[in-house]
Amino acid sequence: MSAARAGLECGGMRSLVLIGHGSHLNGESAAAVYRYAELIRGRGLFDEVVEGYWKEEPSLRQVLKTTASTDVTVIPMFISEGYFTETVIPRELGLGHQGPVPEGGVARVLGGRTVRYTLPYGVHPSMRDVIVARAREALPDLDAGDTALVVLGHGTTRNENSNRVIYENAQALRESGLFAEVHALFLDEDPKVGTWPEKIRAPRVVVVPFFASEGWHTLETIPEDMGLSGDVTEFPDTPHGPQTVYYAKPVGTHPAVADVILHLAEEARGASERGGDEDRGWHAAWQALVSLARRGGRLGEVMIVPQSGVYEVRHALDEGRPGSELTTVVTPEGLRDLTRRDEGGNHRPVHTLRNLPRGWRAVLSEDDLLRGVHFLYPAVVEETYAHHCRSLRATPWPTTARRQTGIYARVQRATPEQVEHVASEVCAGCLRTRLWAGETLAQTFFAGVPGAIPCAEACTLLVAEVREEVSGKRGAAGHGH
Ligand code: SF4
Repeated sequence: MSAARAGLECGGMRSLVLIGHGSHLNGESAAAVYRYAELIRGRGLFDEVVEGYWKEEPSLRQVLKTTASTDVTVIPMFISEGYFTETVIPRELGLGHQGPVPEGGVARVLGGRTVRYTLPYGVHPSMRDVIVARAREALPDLDAGDTALVVLGHGTTRNENSNRVIYENAQALRESGLFAEVHALFLDEDPKVGTWPEKIRAPRVVVVPFFASEGWHTLETIPEDMGLSGDVTEFPDTPHGPQTVYYAKPVGTHPAVADVILHLAEEARGASERGGDEDRGWHAAWQALVSLARRGGRLGEVMIVPQSGVYEVRHALDEGRPGSELTTVVTPEGLRDLTRRDEGGNHRPVHTLRNLPRGWRAVLSEDDLLRGVHFLYPAVVEETYAHHCRSLRATPWPTTARRQTGIYARVQRATPEQVEHVASEVCAGCLRTRLWAGETLAQTFFAGVPGAIPCAEACTLLVAEVREEVSGKRGAAGHGH
């Protein structure tokens, strides 16, 4: 928790929001965004760094509410421009912008906040430094006399922009004179990666995958298509004689991506802007949580107990168990990592589902408690407090359905009975009360009812399940995410 979060900042506050895709099924995609958030938090350049996701919490619909300041820079953590960065994210954030984002980003005032939305990190020119850094890791003595570079992209016919960034990087690196040759090759379009022996003459070849993370393509498809056997592969007999291929790690996981993010944020700032103020609604919500914690109380499935200057958080069903029987963590991140999976080891994309694991306790300072609760129940404090103050607006299902595009547009065909049928299964396991379906919530956990948390809008898990229902793919255990 920064000084700003604790309310000590005098002005010019800025919040940085990193947006990831997230997943209903596994936690890996979110973990990559957490890592960058932690790296940037460590530099102390922003008053806060918050993560948001398409398919996890805080969701794109909620994430702006979870920011403490009125000057928010939002960076999509994607390697290229495309459907998510140009359509889904701006739409779900309510930016009123669709389509390509100009250099320098898009700025809008939303709910009293100045929100600056940037291009994805992968298209920033400084990514070429990351490509060179990856190449040097794979081949420390790379030399313009004998080393070729391959910038390797996925390539796709659906979005021309995804290959443009590969060509631009290849061109800039060609001009840099660092390599004897530079080639742009692709997995899914011409020139294909398998053609490298015809194209490359240099005896040493460094291949840098321009991918967001390690995965099926970087671990299986690329090595297979190129005939690689490991990090270094000797090819004694190619059309151009003996060649050695050095296979680098993907660019997206390099720590220098944190610098790229900071460049993007700086460029989005605008020359005359000084940053924002603390959001009063946000501050009031967290003050209410601090009051609850100081008295000791329950929130969802956990209990918070003040203990001589610090707070202990544990599952309410672990009340009375000796601390020696529980795993103890002392950081918000430790609490986050312990509660990302249920007791069966399944990922928890919706944190208010009643499947919080037991067997742990977190001992946190007051500042850390706020961040810990943010990880445990993202957006819950802000939304519940707004409901408490009668300022939370519910979005009825038809509005949510109309907003969907792409593969989710088909939820518009769901009958009210189908939606209710799916919700009766999915939401039955959730603490939240469906205001979006007309349910009412007279009191909240702020008034001492631990599980009373409003749901203002159908979450993406429910939308995905309704889509399965409409497609006839939803089995009896369809809500088993
Ligand atoms: Fe919970 Fe249902 Fe709301 Fe999703 S839609 S957050 S499952 S109540």
